[in-house]
Amino acid sequence: MIGFDPMYFLFVGPGMLLALWAQYKVKSAFNSGHEIPVASGLSGAQVAQKILDAYSIKNVGIEEADGFMGDHYDPKAKMLRLSHEVYSGRSISSFGVAAHEVGHAIQDAEKYAPLVIRNGIVPLASIGSNLSFFLMFIGAMLNYYNLIVLGIGAFSLIVIFQLINLPVEFDASNRARAILLKQGLVSPSEEKEVGKVLNAAAMTYVAATITSIMTLIYYAYRYGLIGGSKNDE
Ligand SMILES: [Zn+2]
Repeated sequence: MIGFDPMYFLFVGPGMLLALWAQYKVKSAFNSGHEIPVASGLSGAQVAQKILDAYSIKNVGIEEADGFMGDHYDPKAKMLRLSHEVYSGRSISSFGVAAHEVGHAIQDAEKYAPLVIRNGIVPLASIGSNLSFFLMFIGAMLNYYNLIVLGIGAFSLIVIFQLINLPVEFDASNRARAILLKQGLVSPSEEKEVGKVLNAAAMTYVAATITSIMTLIYYAYRYGLIGGSKNDE
């Protein structure tokens, strides 16, 4: 039956600690990056517009989003949504985040394969995240093994999504740094500082993915797909 299991913390605990550490690192990297002004004096929104212009991307808008760190590119609406700190900010962090999000818009315009695959998997992954725990719980209650396996399969969709998301995120950051430098929007030393912010952000994705993989392995172990026994109590 489902209940408290110390093995869960053995499997998933290290990933959770890594995720907490990554969250802390990204917060402090963002905060220190916000304290470094950029010589060009542009805002995040202005930098984003300059990059879009340089790539002749005319169908993508830029607007201010609500909430802290709510920065994202919406491929359906063709809209870059930047948090207030990034939209109006004139710092290393604002530049890094704005350029990263434009990186996603460029991926979209170029039909970058991992992004196309990722967007295709989004509906499946959201079904998986809604159904997996329910299926495992009911399966364990009714002692219906196939339902548990189905639940674990549904959870693996989330892991697949996260694995495909990693190259998408790394690519957006690499593009951002290269473009900022190439367009003369930052100096080489500023580009290094941008890199610190973006690398810290990338770590949070890596930590979340590791946590999900370990959770999947835990379920597979707990329900006897690997190692242990499905009847252990
Ligand atoms: Zn991103």
